[in-house]
Amino acid sequence: MQHLSIGLDLGGTKIEVIVLSSNGETILRERIPTPPKNDFQTPDQQYQAIILAIKTLINTSEATLDYQFNKVGIGIPGAISPTTGLVKNANTTCLIGRAFKQDLEASFKQAKTFMIANDADCFVVSEAKDGAAKNSNSVFGVIIGTGCGGGLVINQQLITGPNAITGEWGHNPLPWLDPSDELIPCYCGKLGCIETFLSGPGFSHHAHQTHSPESKVKLKFDEALSLQLSAQQWHKKLLANDSEAIKIFDTYARRLAKSLASVINIIDPEVIVLGGGMSNIDYLYQRVPELLTEYVFSDEVLTRLVKAEFGDSSGVRGAARLV
Ligand SMILES: [Zn+2]
Repeated sequence: MQHLSIGLDLGGTKIEVIVLSSNGETILRERIPTPPKNDFQTPDQQYQAIILAIKTLINTSEATLDYQFNKVGIGIPGAISPTTGLVKNANTTCLIGRAFKQDLEASFKQAKTFMIANDADCFVVSEAKDGAAKNSNSVFGVIIGTGCGGGLVINQQLITGPNAITGEWGHNPLPWLDPSDELIPCYCGKLGCIETFLSGPGFSHHAHQTHSPESKVKLKFDEALSLQLSAQQWHKKLLANDSEAIKIFDTYARRLAKSLASVINIIDPEVIVLGGGMSNIDYLYQRVPELLTEYVFSDEVLTRLVKAEFGDSSGVRGAARLV
């Protein structure tokens, strides 16, 4: 009987499971909605519903394949504190302060070991193993979607660090500011984080300000978002050669280049892999490398910037690789 590995990706809106064969072939894949916060009266109820949903996905996979998994990899939008063993930095907030690993293990009658990692870490593990960055010794992976996460793999080993935050470049400030770089508050409590410029919502906000500067809306960031064109809508305009969209994406590419240059100056990775919604903008793979040479402390930049090979499913594939 061949060896199979199972991984899950717990996201804000969906929970996905994948079963891979030893050569990386997908044997089974399933996704269900994450039990939403608004369906429950307390965070504890939502948390228990998430545990139950994960348990059900694993049990169903085992029944379908007639296979027993002793180890399960799972990617979460947060990290396990090395000091307390509890979840921290999770944007699915009912997980924060929870003994997630122990609670999952206790929910099964038969012994199972859960390996838990940050979702961006799972992403980079997947792309470094057999994705867009395979055969590279040093890979920095970034997910730019609703947030801006990252992870680092050196010699096929995920680097986690004593604080479990390796690669969290999204909460550094945007470097080499231009006068047009408006600093706005980030949910982390700081001002002008990279995430506030590069995430999908950050992109929309700044594009709106460029598009109609007179409408400097006196609204909260979230409220203002509903008035704006999404990154996808701007991307359609870019593909139609709209001059304003070209300007907006050029500014975005420059901010991405500055942010990545500061990573390259410290880590000097062979490959940077982009994932998440913003990674689907092909213009970036041409323009950002041109701009990197202006900011990286080197006369030439040999770091390759590539798009994730497994797209949406990199995270869950990486989770299965944790096993
Ligand atoms: Zn921040």
